[in-house]
Amino acid sequence: MKRPVTTLFWFTCDQRLHDNEALLAAAHGSDSLICVYVHEPWVNGHGLWGYIGAANQRVEFLGQSLTALAESLTEVGQELLELEGHPESTLGTIIEKFSVAKVVRSVQPGSYEQQAWAKLQSQHPNVVFVEHHTRSLFTTDQLPFAIADLPPTFTKFRKQVGKLDTILPIAAPTKLPPPPSALIELSKNMATAKASSSGALPVLGGESNALTRVASYFSSDLPHSYKQVRNSLDGFDNSTKFSFWLANGNLSPRLIINALNRFEQSQGANESSYWIYFELLWREFFHWHALQHGSRLFSFSGVQQRRPLGSYYPERFRKWAAGNTPYPLVNAIMKELLATGYISNRARQISASCLVNELAIDWRYGARWFEQHLIDYDVASNWGNWQYLAGVGADVQAKRHFNLQKQQAQFDPNGRYIKHWCGDHTPLPLDSVDAADWPI
Ligand SMILES: Cc1cc2nc3c(=O)[nH]c(=O)nc-3n(C[C@H](O)[C@H](O)[C@H](O)COP(=O)(O)OP(=O)(O)OC[C@H]3O[C@@H](n4cnc5c(N)ncnc54)[C@H](O)[C@@H]3O)c2cc1C
Repeated sequence: MKRPVTTLFWFTCDQRLHDNEALLAAAHGSDSLICVYVHEPWVNGHGLWGYIGAANQRVEFLGQSLTALAESLTEVGQELLELEGHPESTLGTIIEKFSVAKVVRSVQPGSYEQQAWAKLQSQHPNVVFVEHHTRSLFTTDQLPFAIADLPPTFTKFRKQVGKLDTILPIAAPTKLPPPPSALIELSKNMATAKASSSGALPVLGGESNALTRVASYFSSDLPHSYKQVRNSLDGFDNSTKFSFWLANGNLSPRLIINALNRFEQSQGANESSYWIYFELLWREFFHWHALQHGSRLFSFSGVQQRRPLGSYYPERFRKWAAGNTPYPLVNAIMKELLATGYISNRARQISASCLVNELAIDWRYGARWFEQHLIDYDVASNWGNWQYLAGVGADVQAKRHFNLQKQQAQFDPNGRYIKHWCGDHTPLPLDSVDAADWPI
């Protein structure tokens, strides 16, 4: 008699049922399925350089996303097991306890996540491990180059992939194989993320909230003016705000392109509607770029292996992070980030340029601060964009230096944005000095 096949599906940044090829592959041919999400200790505890892993708004959004995922899974005969600990040990225990034959997950662009996968594989040589691409627009088969030969800049990448067809999103499953009965008992005693909301933004995690935003955005005329307004410092509808749900995988990029195509067919295409695709290509580029470069994405000299200037100045960094620099525009941006967990693309560029150029701080401290606070934190886009601005990434220019006065005059000419986040606060000098005017 054939032994029943038990498969473990490891949910990561693919917290959805629609267009989830990895989940469907896990279900295929399995008699029972274990759906797991692992909360890693560093997220709630202290991570690199003593920072906490993720600020409240990020944790809350994740909690909402997982609660919604658990509900969706129940509707198709499954349940979500949330575990706490290092993936190698927590998943290892489940693999052994339930004699798991196959482990499936989505490809993760971060090198840390890849190392965890490799370690798990080496600890369980008799188990089959399979990964699928669920975060990208294109498949590896579609790309006209191997990942190792990815074009070094976005422009070259876009020229080669811009005309490729985007595959249609796959429908969500209506039924999944059940979990093993012993698992149902086990999961009753497990801690699960609590969905709460105290956020200052009108966004909630979860697949159905993501799909609602896509539907409402494309049923409005906003795509026709996207390019003109996307550089604004703030304003909810001045950009799509898809990033929150893309980051957790509540939303498939292919579903967005499909909705965009339908919008253009019925309402007409223009430069602005094309620009939404253009920006999603930036995301796509950074996804493959992260896979290509592995841990170099986090190294000081970047993928170019070009050592930049910049060091760690604790006082300057604290002032930047809290919004107490001599630059009112940067202060407003950093206060918005702390209060909401989101800042616009323009704001990200300005604050990153200030950290690298005016404050001469090692860019990685800025990237790590964004990682902690951005609800839409995405390893590939965040570290890729930071390297780009610091002049050590996918760019031919040495580094990008934004003129803060010009940016303020162009994007906040009446001081409305600064006033909103900083009130009448007078900016502080950059460095503390002693009585003889020496930097402390
Ligand atoms: C220093 C820095 C750090 C960043 N960190 C992140 C991050 O952690 N997570 C993240 O999703 N984006 C990051 N970005 C990119 C960009 O700022 C955000 O994707 C965008 O602001 C999200 O808002 P939106 O969805 O309304 O974007 P829209 O303008 O509506 O763009 C649509 C989508 O295109 C993609 N996109 C747009 N611009 C970029 C870009 N420059 N790089 C990659 N993808 C892009 C996003 O998926 C976005 O949701 C960063 C940019 C900079 C300069």
